[in-house]
Amino acid sequence: MTTLTARDPRTGALDFQFQATSPTEIEQTAQRLRAAAQDWQALKLDGRMAKLAELSDASGRHHDAITERLSVDTGRRKIAGREVDGTIGAIHGWLAQAPHLLPDGWTDGRMNPAIRHAPQFVPYALVGVISPWNFPLTLSMIDAIPALLAGCTVMIKPSEVTPRFVDPLMEAIKEAGLQDVLTFVQGDGTTGGALIDHVDAVCFTGSVATGRKVAAAAAGKMIPAFLELGGKDPLVILESADLEKATDAALRGSVLSTGQACQSIERIYVARKIHDAFLERLVEKAKAVELNWPDIGRGHLGPVIFDKQADILQSHIDDASAKGAHVLTGGKVEDHGGGKWLKPTVLANVTHDMAVMRDETFGPILPVMAFDTIEDAVRLANDTEFGLSAAVFAGTLDEAETVGRQIEAGGVSLNDAALTALFHEAEKHSFKLSGMGGSRMGPAGFQRFLRRKALIANTGAPAPIGAFAEDAP
Ligand code: NAD
Repeated sequence: MTTLTARDPRTGALDFQFQATSPTEIEQTAQRLRAAAQDWQALKLDGRMAKLAELSDASGRHHDAITERLSVDTGRRKIAGREVDGTIGAIHGWLAQAPHLLPDGWTDGRMNPAIRHAPQFVPYALVGVISPWNFPLTLSMIDAIPALLAGCTVMIKPSEVTPRFVDPLMEAIKEAGLQDVLTFVQGDGTTGGALIDHVDAVCFTGSVATGRKVAAAAAGKMIPAFLELGGKDPLVILESADLEKATDAALRGSVLSTGQACQSIERIYVARKIHDAFLERLVEKAKAVELNWPDIGRGHLGPVIFDKQADILQSHIDDASAKGAHVLTGGKVEDHGGGKWLKPTVLANVTHDMAVMRDETFGPILPVMAFDTIEDAVRLANDTEFGLSAAVFAGTLDEAETVGRQIEAGGVSLNDAALTALFHEAEKHSFKLSGMGGSRMGPAGFQRFLRRKALIANTGAPAPIGAFAEDAP
């Protein structure tokens, strides 16, 4: 039996111990879920929707308990509560959409009207979900909800960095009577690897490095892998942009959740004419952002959740400084009461040979660079191996749209930043190294859990072999 320890990000205390689920238990859990899959599918969509509605109600009743544990996992309270609200909202969003997403009935063939076809949608019996530490609840449930509605059973392995929220969430799952089709296993990468051995499809959210391992393991098993990985999202600000709105969006898009969001703005490109004025206003606003320490009930920014991430943040700042960047505010990871915090850090005079402009930072760091032409802005924005999302700010939506259409990323926010966090209705892929597999958002987010099966009926007479004779007319 392996015991793991999780760190409290506000105090640095290694004060939460939990057991990793053993390979044997994972195998047994998979067998149990598989055995329940048939009854779950027999409930049909209506029955499954009713059970998911019960989960929504139960999550509401356990809202405070889940929020409380999630707050300890992540060191922030408001966002923890929003994760619970957002998960309930996601259930309702899918309940409203799911009934309208699948065609039904027979269609006559276009090549031969006598041959008709009807689609059937066959869910994977067991879907595995592996989630990261930055939004532990949201990213555990975001794929699980549509998978359950589609008729799959689901086994989730959350990050070993943030394990505390699972117990109160399981209480809600049990209260809704869903424990036979939705369950959690705990552990680190070894547990994640063991989970992949037993599922029919895997949804992974995490880093590119681990994503490659998950993809390789899934390929070995010939199961689909839906990968949502890192990003290096650019924000392009054109000369016509409103500075107040652009600085608001840039700051919020970069530092919300301490920048620990895949869709965080990580690079800012500003038209040279407004560059200095933009920087001045951005720095003013950045300086007004407060840490939520010592009181978790005040301020804007929580601690860095994963201590090793704090080392990456500092190394990006130090590397940029050493190569000539100017630190205009912030710049030092601060130790308060054992936790690690970083105030919004605005960097000017940055170049693309700095790690902060190339590698995923995942923190409240805003490197700002001037551009001269729109072609330059597009070239710089696309000069990355990532393609998760991006943003463009301009005086008019038309101008923003023209640039947005040229950016190589799956979701592009126009006249705001990081809208993909708020709006899940539009289908989007993760381009380049940012991911693989069907869209998590929009109708495809549900449809990807269903294999297409075609029933093909001949309403005429079957062709005899003679029709294919070499000398047949
Ligand atoms: P990570 O890759 O280190 O870990 C993610 C999960 O994978 C954890 O649960 C971990 O235990 C598990 N894991 C580790 N090794 C494994 C293996 N060999 N096989 C199976 N599972 C394994 O990522 P992280 O540090 O927890 O999360 C931060 C990363 O997640 C960032 O890169 C961020 O951009 C990314 N992310 C992406 C999205 C998105 O939607 N694209 C959303 C949030 C976070």
